[in-house]
Amino acid sequence: MAKTRSTAATRRRQATDEDLERFAEQADSDVLGCRSEAHNFPKPSEIGWNFKVSGSFHIRTFTCKDCGRATRTQRWDIITNRTGVVTRMDYVDTKMSYGDGYLLPAGSGRSRKTQWREVVARTAVVGKKIQIEVED
Ligand SMILES: [Zn+2]
Repeated sequence: MAKTRSTAATRRRQATDEDLERFAEQADSDVLGCRSEAHNFPKPSEIGWNFKVSGSFHIRTFTCKDCGRATRTQRWDIITNRTGVVTRMDYVDTKMSYGDGYLLPAGSGRSRKTQWREVVARTAVVGKKIQIEVED
């Protein structure tokens, strides 16, 4: 029987450098920084331990301090006693969501962090004179 490598994941289109370059031309520099490096989510010490009830879970949300468009939502299962004191808590999962101006247009396909890193650097540097220090 012939084996096929064609799965849903491998059929998904890979975004081209041109797709990313078009996006980079009009995107905020903070968005490009997060796309090419990492988000800067607040630490628990900065936002405290506040939860909202959503269905049967307790959720915490963190929005990136740099781009403001990536939100990490953690779901927790928290049990309190009759007086409201937490007696048990279990982490469930985390989901990410993104606001306007962060994602490539629908149908562009998947992009890789290294691809963003290259496109963002090229956009900033190619065609310009930069200072390159020689390491001893
Ligand atoms: Zn970000």
